[in-house]
Amino acid sequence: MSKSSSGSPRNETGNPAVSPHYLDKMLEQDTVNLSLPHGRRVGQPGHDVALQYIWRRMGEIGLEYFLDYDYFLPYIAKHPTTGQKTKFTNLAGFIPGTNRTAMPVLIGAHYDSAIDAPCSDDNAVSVALLLRVAEIIKKKAPRRNVILAFFDAEEAPFFLTETMGSIRFYSDHCKGLDFACVIILDMIGHDFQMRIPLVDMLLPEMRKLLFVMGSESHSQLPPIIEQAASDTRRLRILPTLSRYTGATSDHHAFMNGGQPTLFLSKGSGCHSHLPEDGIDWINFSRVRKVLDFLLEIVELLDGAPMHRGRKTIDPYEFEIRMMRRAIGWPLPLLLRYMGFRKRSLLSRKDLDDLARKLSKLWRDGGN
Ligand SMILES: [Zn+2]
Repeated sequence: MSKSSSGSPRNETGNPAVSPHYLDKMLEQDTVNLSLPHGRRVGQPGHDVALQYIWRRMGEIGLEYFLDYDYFLPYIAKHPTTGQKTKFTNLAGFIPGTNRTAMPVLIGAHYDSAIDAPCSDDNAVSVALLLRVAEIIKKKAPRRNVILAFFDAEEAPFFLTETMGSIRFYSDHCKGLDFACVIILDMIGHDFQMRIPLVDMLLPEMRKLLFVMGSESHSQLPPIIEQAASDTRRLRILPTLSRYTGATSDHHAFMNGGQPTLFLSKGSGCHSHLPEDGIDWINFSRVRKVLDFLLEIVELLDGAPMHRGRKTIDPYEFEIRMMRRAIGWPLPLLLRYMGFRKRSLLSRKDLDDLARKLSKLWRDGGN
């Protein structure tokens, strides 16, 4: 796909300028192109189509190879169900920073699908968003190297096995590497749903909710998230501990390795892992707000020292403050609805209780 045509406007360097309109459209176009009708499941033809597509786009964007020969990082592992040796492939590239000795930032998302269906939200749109992030950051000359990684085999039956792409990437390629931060994206394209019909109907602002897990993994992350989340008209950012949701995506390997790690997700929705997870389920105007939020985090990380010796912290006051801001006036009503006795949240124990009640509610009443 050509980035410019004859007669297109020229930028100050005299090269043909890439129209911002074209670039903006690519987020949508990449999501559509990766939302293959029969999906991207390991072993299916669509898996290879997606792999080649991402490889081509990384080249168009002009990413450097993460390893010196290619974006492809193939590995062989025993299939957890059949026991047969199977080939899997991660992809990684990077944007060189001006200070090569600064700890890098890694942004990652899986590209395989759970079922033989488009799976636009899980996780075509995150892959498209990473490609767009790469295009934008490349023009900014960041201080830190920014690594873009596309992981294979996140879905069942590979999840948390030695075949899982992110686990293999971390063990094969990250020995001795300290990251300033790892940011993983999964299921970021649909509008958030409480999956409590009355609440979803009465509180439409809740659709803007985006979970950020992992701020406890480095003491410098909470102020960065708080600053990036300051515009609640844009998104409603809800930080939670990663232990409240457990291992749910590719952040697991990095967090286990003791890296500062953030996981951005809308959580599982009503169409997740179903054929209905198609392009129509994606709210692109909201996805652009996730893009802006992510770019702001990366920019703040670029300027932050992100000292090593990262003490994990208990940021409960930050979580409570952010929850008040994200949910606003309906928070006391929601707490009462969930059978929470206190009128407000004050401590880690309160947040633990709330997390327990919410997971029970979603287990019993959700789908
Ligand atoms: Zn996923």
